[in-house]
Amino acid sequence: MNAGRRVLVVEDEVKLAALLCDYLRAAGYEPRVAEDGPAALQAMADDCPAAVLLDLNLPGLDGMEVCQRIRRTSDVPILMLTARADEIDRIVGLEVGADDYLCKPYSPREVVARVRALLRRAQGRLPSATGAPGASASPSLEVGGFAVDDAGQRAWWQGQALPLTPIEWRLLRTLLQSPGRVFARAQLLDAIHADFRDVSDRAVDSHVKNLRRKLQATIAGPDCIASVYGVGYRLDLPLAPGS
Ligand code: CA
Repeated sequence: MNAGRRVLVVEDEVKLAALLCDYLRAAGYEPRVAEDGPAALQAMADDCPAAVLLDLNLPGLDGMEVCQRIRRTSDVPILMLTARADEIDRIVGLEVGADDYLCKPYSPREVVARVRALLRRAQGRLPSATGAPGASASPSLEVGGFAVDDAGQRAWWQGQALPLTPIEWRLLRTLLQSPGRVFARAQLLDAIHADFRDVSDRAVDSHVKNLRRKLQATIAGPDCIASVYGVGYRLDLPLAPGS
């Protein structure tokens, strides 16, 4: 067993769990299913999976509680799967500690793509793979002092890695496509929740707030994300030192 390929699938719908496992196996992963919260916590302790797919709506202990309990002991990447639109704000506000989420109905292919991106990101956190994009990862986009890598969903400011969640990364990637242009909240929602439309504007505000805080921690000078009252947000490229 290769620990880096183990994926824990927490899903009480047997057919859905089996389908997800088929796709994960086909992509080279080693899935294990847990049908409820206690089984998931047990599997975490037994197996140390590299990533967790976590259904929100589970019998007994729900997915939120399971997520919070996993987070007490592990920073394993967690992809939340949910059919409950009313809970999206809490999930994406990261109150519960999930790294990313998908809404039902989702395509199993998209689930596998998200798992792959989460694992690449997690590997990017290892000391051997941190730092600026080098020979192994050439940036997909370079603008101002920013560089972004689409395959690994990573971003850098002047060679310094930005510790973004997948959602924050998608937000920054979108804003960087047109620095200086105002993006309406609805456009940003489309960009960051490509699979789901019915999410409140507050979710965008909460992500922008988190992204802004992280950029401010890395980039000297004034805030580079401007709020445009009643419309949305704009990214102004910061001045690089010496420029
Ligand atoms: Ca369920």
